[in-house]
Amino acid sequence: MTRKPLMAGNWKMYKTSAETQAFFQAFKPLVADAAHCDIVICPPFPSLAAAVEEARGSNIEIGAQNLYWGKEGAVTGEVSGNMLQASGCGYVIVGHSERRQYFGETEPDVVRKTRAALEFGLTPIVCMGERLADRESNTTEAVLATQFDGGLAPLAPEEFAKVVIAYEPVWAIGTGRTATPAIAADAHRFIRSGVALKFGDAQAAATRILYGGSVKPDNVKSLMAEADIDGALVGGASLDPKSFAAIVRY
Ligand code: PEP
Repeated sequence: MTRKPLMAGNWKMYKTSAETQAFFQAFKPLVADAAHCDIVICPPFPSLAAAVEEARGSNIEIGAQNLYWGKEGAVTGEVSGNMLQASGCGYVIVGHSERRQYFGETEPDVVRKTRAALEFGLTPIVCMGERLADRESNTTEAVLATQFDGGLAPLAPEEFAKVVIAYEPVWAIGTGRTATPAIAADAHRFIRSGVALKFGDAQAAATRILYGGSVKPDNVKSLMAEADIDGALVGGASLDPKSFAAIVRY
């Protein structure tokens, strides 16, 4: 089973609409002939429209960084999957560690948000990963198992089949401290074995598992050389068109 790589940029709370337009003008020609992978950019909500407009007719898809479950309602400040889909998004990040850490997102929230994404035709990129203290106390696998059991295992097989997983060790996010390819590959194998146990070998072979955590142009090639690493979720290095293009073209 070959899994098409996916390179996704998570812009976090960076870039206005004008900055988004400027990014796409520079980025599009740099990746126009890149057919070997799927390319997704996830800007903040107010810049989604500009990104969708700029990406029209290109090989770049647009995603959001968060969503609320439900189609509409009295939920001040939230955005639904229905609205994201209607805005031209194809993807949405769910359960990023910054959402877990700063906004108290839990595994049941991850399940609700993943289902809401799927209901409205969005591909969820569901994040999981251990903190530094977990790695130092040798509980990485237990933490990943808890996140998988709580956030992904409750999905029906036909729901899970549409999910992309992102393994993002929290200690590597925004720190410049990348997991070595061997460390990342170990975690990816562990997650994939969990997928096999719950959803079967064929599904495990088909599921894309991205690595995230200080991916840069100079380390992406060695990470992508690992058989179980199917792409990257990139924060800081996705903000610069040349740098993200170099990652896409690893
Ligand atoms: C992220 O925000 O998902 C991320 C991996 O950030 P960075 O690449 O900056 O570590």
